[in-house]
Amino acid sequence: MQGNMMDVQLTIPTILERMRTQYAGREVVSLMVAGRDEKGQPIPHKHRTTYGAVADRALRLASAMQGLGLNPGDRVATLCVNSFRHLEAYMGVPSAGLVLHTVNIRLHPEQVVWILNHAEDRVLIIENVFAAMIPAIRAACPQIERVFVMGPLPQAIPGAEDYDAFVMAHEPLARYPDLEENAPAAMCYTSGTTGNPKGVIYTHRSTVLHSLASAPKDALGVSEADSVLAIVPMFHVNAWGLPYTCAMYGAKQVFAGVFSDGPSIARLLQEEEVTITAGVPTIWMGLLAELDRAKAEGTPYDLSRLQTLISGGSASPESMLRAFEDRHGLRMLQAWGMTETHPLGTASNVPVGVDPTSDEGYALRAKQGRAVPLVELALLSDDGQLLPHDGKTMGRLIIRAPWVASSYFKGEGQSNFFTLDDGKLWFDTGDIVTIDERGFMHIQDRAKDLIKSGGEWISSVDLENAIMAHPAVAQCAVIAMDDPKWDERPLAVVVPRPGQTVSHEELVEFITPKFARWWLPDATVITESLPIGATGKFLKRELRDQYRGYKAGSQATSDA
Ligand code: AMP
Repeated sequence: MQGNMMDVQLTIPTILERMRTQYAGREVVSLMVAGRDEKGQPIPHKHRTTYGAVADRALRLASAMQGLGLNPGDRVATLCVNSFRHLEAYMGVPSAGLVLHTVNIRLHPEQVVWILNHAEDRVLIIENVFAAMIPAIRAACPQIERVFVMGPLPQAIPGAEDYDAFVMAHEPLARYPDLEENAPAAMCYTSGTTGNPKGVIYTHRSTVLHSLASAPKDALGVSEADSVLAIVPMFHVNAWGLPYTCAMYGAKQVFAGVFSDGPSIARLLQEEEVTITAGVPTIWMGLLAELDRAKAEGTPYDLSRLQTLISGGSASPESMLRAFEDRHGLRMLQAWGMTETHPLGTASNVPVGVDPTSDEGYALRAKQGRAVPLVELALLSDDGQLLPHDGKTMGRLIIRAPWVASSYFKGEGQSNFFTLDDGKLWFDTGDIVTIDERGFMHIQDRAKDLIKSGGEWISSVDLENAIMAHPAVAQCAVIAMDDPKWDERPLAVVVPRPGQTVSHEELVEFITPKFARWWLPDATVITESLPIGATGKFLKRELRDQYRGYKAGSQATSDA
């Protein structure tokens, strides 16, 4: 016997149609750049529109894209900030049967070019604030056929077209193409542990299921009544899926564009009566400082509507959870995920019966949380054995869910995906964790040789290779040191060649041309030797223990 339910494909147009019809009047608010002040700082200007208008433009974009002669599954890249236009692209590009490839605007231009070429993007949509990059991208990425610029341009740029004019010159798409739910919809690159970034391709199905599963109260708690400010960039795992989740359930969306400083965020939260906001701990530290300042000066913000600050991307220390709650009555919810997990894996809502503001409640909320429905977590030892969920045993976190990647683009990094004796496919996250009896996962360490600074990855391996090219350097290991503002910053531990000396400043100057400024190590420790393991690799974990608590500037070039 067979079941007799309809085989309805789970596709992004189902979300777009809800926006267009059911929630047409719901607002979308974006902070845009109106110009520059005398110091060159961007001046904000608030743009207001509705889901109905965004849906109309998304459908125009979809038909415009269909007219470009692209094939289903071809990639359309965005180098854009969070705004209503990017939301349009989120909806319109996949609805045209194409793949929305959101590129990280903070990367070094050489990495951007590498990623655009690796993804074989055929169209680029770029925000006007980054327009200066267009000639270099054009020269280095011959496969990009058309470039569209979002927002006004003071002067024409050869080889670039106006995005708004392109969109508005087309009628809204009359009929969606036939889309399979497992067709590719969006793409993001993750930082490789070694070597190059890897592409993760989200499907229509994974997007719809992730939106359904992340909205309930026991996950992120998004509903029609909410006003949601996702500060997490739309180039990071689809802004944790929130633009799709909010559109599916009809929540108002607020976008901060290029403005992520404490005062801009605090004002926006107040003015737009935001109920849920999401970002990395670095953003929350900036917001906390601004809320403290305003309160001390007797002019506190009115954030009485704000129910949840979702924090992810790096660990949220208990002290931060307490500071928001005790000083400002604001509740923080920690969540965990990855580019490969689309991203929501866990959320740290407390179990029934536990007071979130009790010591037990805080201790649980400082963990990464419990799996949301349809996510399975397990712990693996280095020799591939499943480990107990007892809250004490540490192991590698492995995960499976309908919105977890089953491979990387072009089949790279295959060793991260494997089948266990249970016959199921699992993904190795590279996080070293414990899981307790109730399912609370707690990150203890990271197997990946990466440093996470302000929510963005820095490759220690790339820095080491560049530093080791210096003639006075014999060996170098770059490790993460804790930083109150950025969570982690790179620390270079360097062994000079016999008879040679080298300073932090010399090394930084030497590698500066190769990296974005925020990648450069904050400090260098000169030492006589590095701990080396049995396989000849530097023992980074030992070094991290040795230099725990090290502060930049304390002993910049001396032996620690
Ligand atoms: P990404 O692929 O850039 O989203 O980074 C994913 C990684 O960020 C995870 O594997 C973790 O190492 C880290 N991460 C994400 N969320 C958290 C969290 N709540 N606490 C600690 N680390 C986190």
